Amino acid sequence: MESRILDLLYPPRCPVCDGLRPIGAPRCHPACRGKLTPVGADTCMRCGKPVPEGAAEYCYDCASKQESSFERGVSVFLYEGDIRESMVRFKFHGREEYGAWYAGELLAAQGAKLRAFGADAVIPVPIHRRKMRRRGYNQAERIARVLAEELNLPLYDDYLRRNRFTVPQKELSNHERVRNLMRALEPGRQADRLRKQQKTPRRVILVDDIYTTGSTLEACSAVLKSTGAEHVMVATICIGGGYV
Ligand SMILES: [Zn+2]
Ligand SMILES: [Zn+2]
Repeated sequence: MESRILDLLYPPRCPVCDGLRPIGAPRCHPACRGKLTPVGADTCMRCGKPVPEGAAEYCYDCASKQESSFERGVSVFLYEGDIRESMVRFKFHGREEYGAWYAGELLAAQGAKLRAFGADAVIPVPIHRRKMRRRGYNQAERIARVLAEELNLPLYDDYLRRNRFTVPQKELSNHERVRNLMRALEPGRQADRLRKQQKTPRRVILVDDIYTTGSTLEACSAVLKSTGAEHVMVATICIGGGYV
């Protein structure tokens, strides 16, 4: 359906203040957009966290890690204040429409790096089907879908599956969290089908809404590599500024 007709049926809301917008106006009020903190130009090459200007290529976390499953990372906003509240509505209050705006911001801020990576597929971080039923959508897929369209790449939204329901694991170390999450993930039907067709994606953009400890993205990347992916870039909308 044409987007103008959709706008009439479901008046779009500003992703920052959740206020209704006049039809034909930008998706986000410019003043609301101005309240958010972009990650800026100096970021960690691997995860996308801001690093002090002119500092090393990697943030403290990434520099201290022995090895990791993804090599590159980009994000857009610091995970704080208004964007944090926006993310809560996006995930828990049905505002799936925000996803298109998030993807647009990701492209505007990081399009050059995303394109330079030369990906052959876009894959969202999966959620468990119980969450999917409750929420009605996978928020990472809502971002990944628009990103894939704009980058002219295939979207594989059943390539990774979450087969077990995991509870937040704050008391565990990062390493233990990654191992637990890896056990909760498996390749989905699309992974099998693409393998049989010898079309396993080699360079993958893995998409999630938020990067905090990085353990979810780490576990998903490790599973992607086990299916034959060679390089993974992680793309998120928000990223924590602190270190684990
Ligand atoms: Zn607004
Ligand atoms: Zn980093």
